This record gives sequence, structure tokens and C-alpha cells, in this order.
Amino acid sequence: MFFMQKLSLLQIAPTLAEFFGVHLTSQALQVEQILKFAYSRRPVPKVVVLVVIDSLDFRFYSDFADELRGIHELVERDGLLFECETVSSHTTPAIASILVGLRPDSHKILTSNDVGKSKIKSILEILEDEGKPTAAVIETKGAEPLLGRISHVFAVDDREDIREYDALIKTHTISVLKKQDLRLVFSHLRTIDRFAHRGWVLSVAAKVTNDNVMAIAKAVGERNGLLLICGDHETHLKDRKAKQASHGKVPTTVPLIVCCP
Ligand SMILES: [Zn+2]
Repeated sequence: MFFMQKLSLLQIAPTLAEFFGVHLTSQALQVEQILKFAYSRRPVPKVVVLVVIDSLDFRFYSDFADELRGIHELVERDGLLFECETVSSHTTPAIASILVGLRPDSHKILTSNDVGKSKIKSILEILEDEGKPTAAVIETKGAEPLLGRISHVFAVDDREDIREYDALIKTHTISVLKKQDLRLVFSHLRTIDRFAHRGWVLSVAAKVTNDNVMAIAKAVGERNGLLLICGDHETHLKDRKAKQASHGKVPTTVPLIVCCP
């Protein structure tokens, strides 16, 4: 089901907080349709997996619908699809906003040097503090500040072979889902972003990403979990950048998919 009403990426963290019954300070509204969807499942999902696909914007999601077939089918079968306005065109502040529910000028996590220095807690740490175990499967620099603060941290070193990188993200995400007390997992897939920056064949990146998400979706399904998939910012394409510059600033949107696979 596609909702015309546009959301913001800032609404994900408050929605997760409400779902788990914990307090998170944000001006952004929780998304009632997501809560209704989650609460109406039987059994009600105990674990939520949030997969952020770097550089997956709404246009990319539509343009590569064939390669992203599996993800589109998650929506068509029995899922929700929203269009979310982005809050930054850079990965670090965008992901911080997804996890804390605040704009970059409020959380001030703008570069990897700022990660871990912020006093503002992410939804992962808030849940952990309330006795609800969480996990993060991310690049080493982003992972280090979370060590000792949440139950499960899988740090994957950045590397030239980004497909190998994403394969590790997928594998760790699936393996941590075996922990029965786990409540929230955050994972970050980066193949599309790397291919876009390098000017490589994007259909290949889309297919790789689709396969990784499908493998994660299968594991989420086996746990009767809730799966959220979203992008972080517009796809960084050289030709598109030039076009946008000539038309002024165009607000970009990314998909947010909610499903119980
Ligand atoms: Zn990014």
C-alpha cells in the first residue's frame, strides 16, 4: 500500500520509540499507519530490523524496479510504502537523524569525527537502557562509539570490494537475529552508494542490494519480525547533480518500506 502523504526520515525513531514504549525527545510525529500495521500482526513483532540502503532515493527505487523486484514485492504482498523527505545529502548526518529523530543542526553529528561525541542518545541506546537489547551492523568507524553501549555491535571494515562488505553486513544481520531477546537491529548497506560515486553500472548494485535485503527479509520472517527499509539521501550521481544545480535545490525523497516478510 502506497501512502501519498509524505513523511520525513525524522519520524522513524519516534515511531520505533512509541512501538517499544520508550521515551525519545523529538518534534517529529510518530507514524500511526506503521504502528497500526505492527500492532495488528499476530503475533505482534518482538524484533524490528531497520535496514538503511545508502543512496537509495525514491527515483532510484522506481527506476530500478526490475532489479529491486524482491523489495517491491514486499510492498505489493502486504507492506507499506512511504515517501520520506531527506534531511541531509550526506550519510553520517542522515543516519544520525534516522536514529535520533532530530535534524542535523540539532544533533550536530555531521562527520565521522562527531560520531560518539554527541550526548543525544539514539533509539538503539534508549532501548538498551530500558533493558531491550539492540544490535548495530555497520562500518567500523560508526560502530566503535556503540561498543559497550548496546548489546551487539558488528563492525565491518570499509574496503574496496563493497559487495564483500555488504555480504558481511547481511551475514551478521542474519546471525544476530538468532538472539531471542533482541528487540532492534540496525544495518547499513552501501553497494548502491559506492557504485553511484564511481559511475559503475547501477543495475548491478541494485541487484546485489535486492539479494542482500531478500536474505535479511527471510531471516526477519522466520522470527515473525518487522522489517523497515529506507534510503538515507538522494543517489549521488554526477549527471543528476549537474541537473539539480541548474534547477536550484530540489527536495529529494527516499522510500520507506514497512513489512512483515
Ligand atoms: Zn549515504
